[in-house]
Amino acid sequence: IKKIGVLTSGGDAPGMNAAIRSVVRTCAFHNVECVGIYRGYQGMIEGDFKEMGPRSVNNIVNKGGTILKSARSKEFKTKEGRQTAHKNLVAAGVDALVVIGGDGSFTGAEVFNEEFGFPVMGIPGTIDNDIYGTSHTLGYDTALNTVVDCIDKIRDTASSHNRLFFVEVMGRDAGHIALNAGIGAGAEEILIPEEDLGLDRLLESLQKSKASGKSSSIVVVAEGDKMGKNVFELKDYIEQHLPEYDIRVSVLGHMQRGGSPSCFDRVLASRLGVKAVESLLEGKSNFMVGILQDEVTLTPLEQAIKGHYPIDMELLRVSDIMST
Ligand code: ADP
Repeated sequence: IKKIGVLTSGGDAPGMNAAIRSVVRTCAFHNVECVGIYRGYQGMIEGDFKEMGPRSVNNIVNKGGTILKSARSKEFKTKEGRQTAHKNLVAAGVDALVVIGGDGSFTGAEVFNEEFGFPVMGIPGTIDNDIYGTSHTLGYDTALNTVVDCIDKIRDTASSHNRLFFVEVMGRDAGHIALNAGIGAGAEEILIPEEDLGLDRLLESLQKSKASGKSSSIVVVAEGDKMGKNVFELKDYIEQHLPEYDIRVSVLGHMQRGGSPSCFDRVLASRLGVKAVESLLEGKSNFMVGILQDEVTLTPLEQAIKGHYPIDMELLRVSDIMST
């Protein structure tokens, strides 16, 4: 392998730049050329490439987003689109690919590998932490810190006005952010897609909390419907049944995807970038690099795509005890 291409695809996440930097510098360290591909698979189809040396990634380790830009590409889902992309890579002398993204991007990488036998390696970049084969995806730790910071601020208003706040966080399919940030920020209840608490238990818990002398409360809700209701409908429901509560909803939204990556995410990005490049140089392909029990590991892309990293159910119990 003489030249490795690197791209970021799908939803952006803090730490993607640190991963690009790691891939570029690991290539330089091993005297392999590196090409940055702009706007994910769409840029691959359009031939939007730029040679990258170790100095082209100066001062990005601390930056959110991705300097290579990200995109979603419908064309790459077609055979013609992928053929054009393959032709462009061959013409540019690129003979292996590092894809930084989520499960959609990995699916694209797997299809591309299958069709052309092109060596690919995935680095998980998504704040949702919803990929099998890694306990942490890039951006997840930063997002947790952002969410905790936001809820701390909301708590000031909640306690000053004796209010109940429903705070909606990202994670439609995975409750990692809600569960961990909820415990970290001291939420009264945490509603995640993996567990249906039930409206009666939610009411009961809030009633108990009021009776125990708490004057304000925070309920963290992972986005998407819970018990058949979105966060605003949940608020209406609770207001109807517990009129003594003054309830507000705060939807944190895209701020959770932005910001300077945490130290954890920078270190993780550096480690995964090294492993991705060195694995390609060892002749491995079609894997995702990840971290399990603080060891950098390889998981076949096929497996990484299929499952989710499971929620630690013990955390739900801890959360229950903490809201006593
Ligand atoms: P994420 O990587 O964050 O999950 P997406 O699901 O939007 O983001 O996927 C990113 C891109 O990966 C898509 O825009 C598309 O170009 C490519 N992709 C996703 N699924 C496939 C597929 N089945 N075949 C080919 N390419 C795909």
